[in-house]
Amino acid sequence: MKLDVDVLRYLSKDDFRVLTAVEMGMRNHEIVPSELIGRIASLKHGETYKVLKNLLKHKLVHHDSSKYDGFRLTYLGYDFLAIKTMVNRGVFTAVGRQIGVGKESDIFEVASEDGTVMAMKLHRLGRTSFRAVKSKRDYLRHRSSFNWLYLSRLAALKEFAFMKALEEHGFPVPNAVDCNRHCVVMSLIQGYPLVQVKQLQNPDTVFETIIGLVVRLAEHGLIHCDFNEFNIMIDDDEKVTMIDFPQMVSVSHRNAQMYFDRDIECIYKFFGKRFNLSFEEHSDDIDNSEVDPDESSRPSFSSITKTAGFLDKELAASGFTRKDEDEIQKFIEGDVEEDDLSHGEHDSELCQTNIKGFDSLHLNQEEPTSSCNEEDQVDENLQSSEAGQSGDP
Ligand code: ADP
Ligand code: MG
Repeated sequence: MKLDVDVLRYLSKDDFRVLTAVEMGMRNHEIVPSELIGRIASLKHGETYKVLKNLLKHKLVHHDSSKYDGFRLTYLGYDFLAIKTMVNRGVFTAVGRQIGVGKESDIFEVASEDGTVMAMKLHRLGRTSFRAVKSKRDYLRHRSSFNWLYLSRLAALKEFAFMKALEEHGFPVPNAVDCNRHCVVMSLIQGYPLVQVKQLQNPDTVFETIIGLVVRLAEHGLIHCDFNEFNIMIDDDEKVTMIDFPQMVSVSHRNAQMYFDRDIECIYKFFGKRFNLSFEEHSDDIDNSEVDPDESSRPSFSSITKTAGFLDKELAASGFTRKDEDEIQKFIEGDVEEDDLSHGEHDSELCQTNIKGFDSLHLNQEEPTSSCNEEDQVDENLQSSEAGQSGDP
């Protein structure tokens, strides 16, 4: 499947202004009243309605009139806002084919101006049921309702920060390139998810490497929590790369031991089944009395010397700031304030990338409209994300 970014090229400044207004309104409204969108966008009378019709036609917003006349962003609308920001920042200039469909994400190839192909992960946290998300995602504690935009953004931010921190500590992870809204851009891993690998030259070595990673993560104060054959990539040289970090927790988490054991168990089970490695000390079929527990080589959580606090220090150092933490905390406690966050981005002239199979993103460039004071205020909002990482609800 391809993400149809054709439309993106022809969207006007007003289209993005109104799309951004819907995004801003969604901080406090699941469905944003049309009248509020009009006020935030502050276009000339009647213009907002025309633009909304256009956005609706391209499925960037969804109209709802069940309770009152209003709109919400669709995934596609949110995708376009994030993609536009990335393109304006010069991170990539073209979008290619979809390379992965995760439980809670879509992954596409993207290419920079010089032709470097990378991976773009668009988080879709609301895709699974809330109950499933709630049970899985640590940061949803205490939260009784949720906004999928905010959740997806939070997941992306967390993933980006962890990927960066892990990379800095020499873990085999993709190179974290950039993050905006629910979108993370990272290096493309040349390889396959372990689940697709039927044969290995050295299954023992790969197994030990992978188990070693779980242990080393714990030594650094972290547990992956979804460490399985879907989130481990293997290349032709049998080099291992781990991916997918939004659900990681600290070793001080109340269920840390259980998460650690589950990660280890997944790997043991998979290698036992797929590559016939035998781990007799853990077979359910044998009489436990025959096994000397001291001979068990399975890593135990309690015996690992863990450095808790990796989370705080290292994540802060790699861009996951105290402010971000506070925002997440605010979200968890359910009191995100209107206008706490700023939105939008600059328009800029973009270069074409001509790579086979990629859709180049030469965005529409329009003359700036004249503005009154009120518009200036919105313009400030619309332009502030270029320099910083905010700009997200
Ligand atoms: P989810 O959180 O939805 O499970 P993942 O991060 O695990 O998403 O990605 C889903 C799939 O996309 C992976 O199994 C893999 O096939 C592919 N993928 C993800 N990241 C990359 C990458 N950096 N390079 C190549 N393929 C990737
Ligand atoms: Mg995954």
